[in-house]
Amino acid sequence: MTDQKTTALTEAYLEDKLLPDDPVLTAALERQTAAGLPPIAVSPLQGAFLQIIAQSIGAKRILELGTLAGYSTIWLARGLAEGGKVVTLELQDVNADIAEQNFEAAAITHLIDIKRGDAHKTLNIMINDGVAPFDLVFMDNDKLNYPTYLEQVLHLSRPGTLIIADNVVRDGKITNADSTDPSIKGVRRFFDALKDHPRLTMTSLQTVGAKGYDGFAMMLVK
Ligand code: SAM
Repeated sequence: MTDQKTTALTEAYLEDKLLPDDPVLTAALERQTAAGLPPIAVSPLQGAFLQIIAQSIGAKRILELGTLAGYSTIWLARGLAEGGKVVTLELQDVNADIAEQNFEAAAITHLIDIKRGDAHKTLNIMINDGVAPFDLVFMDNDKLNYPTYLEQVLHLSRPGTLIIADNVVRDGKITNADSTDPSIKGVRRFFDALKDHPRLTMTSLQTVGAKGYDGFAMMLVK
């Protein structure tokens, strides 16, 4: 089994080779830390992955669940096609305030629509308002409620919409059917909902790095 020191060293090596220095993103993380927010943003390599995915599919409408300080949002916004927008949903005002500062510093405020409040409510409002379907969805908020968010997100999707959900491996704890951890239980119910889903083509990628062992689920709407 590869130890965490090796994966952290490898991650630093890959970041050094693949990601140019980026003062805007560095400052965004510094602002997140200075505000006392937890270090739970995607890693730089994962952020670049999200940008590449958005660019590859020419995403014009991106939906993000869980903004925190907007670190992943900045990566997603950089992947937007001309004229596109990221709609990002955040429960905590204190997080949304820091995110707005980060968007301003990154000169991307015009590309972002941050919607404050509980994602369940916000998604229902968007569904009732009949907003146009999204091209790309990044799920990264409360894992407990992933199953419900999946159903809501499907109402905001079209054939070809790509949905990516983060933190679905959780150190491999998702295989523990007896876990009492609400996030593990939520992710397990999420996978139960995905199994044999008629509208989705799916896979999952396990990830390792400085932040430990976790993974993404990727779902393409048929
Ligand atoms: N995507 C961010 C990044 O990589 O930079 C990290 C998001 S962090 C893992 C999860 C965020 O989801 C937190 O900021 C949290 O406040 C937010 N959140 C949790 N429950 C939520 C809910 N019900 N509705 C909206 N946001 C929620």
